[in-house]
Amino acid sequence: MKCPKCGHLYSKVTDTRVTAEGIAIRRRRVCLKCDHRFFTNEIVCIEYPMVIKRDGRKEEFDGEKIKTGLMKAFKKQNGIKEKVNDIVNGVLAEIISKYPEKVPSEKIGDMIMNRLRASEPVAYLRFASVYKNFETAKDFALEFEQLLLDLPK
Ligand SMILES: [Zn+2]
Repeated sequence: MKCPKCGHLYSKVTDTRVTAEGIAIRRRRVCLKCDHRFFTNEIVCIEYPMVIKRDGRKEEFDGEKIKTGLMKAFKKQNGIKEKVNDIVNGVLAEIISKYPEKVPSEKIGDMIMNRLRASEPVAYLRFASVYKNFETAKDFALEFEQLLLDLPK
């Protein structure tokens, strides 16, 4: 890493910090020539798998889609950004560990629904109604009934 002050190529690392999410590392460095102190940031570049759609077509992975779908499911609840981020991060980690090459789109949907079902039943129903393509009130009622049966008493 070039010293930003004198351009010297060699520096010594004096401190290393990993960010809370574990995806970035910040290093404090001292230039070996002029003693100038500076920081460098290292960011993990994650490669996501291709998404295989229901009809077999491949699609570039897009984490924003997961986020948008979830935001809709939560409507305008308070503090949803954090909840949504937690769920998205969990889903991304699961995708990378279980499906490093390609991931069927319905598996992504299942991962999201599993997380919602346990803790956010209302958001779960909204998400499921779009995702599972509920067409009638009866579809919705059946899912609701099942959810009620599964909820902790
Ligand atoms: Zn320097």
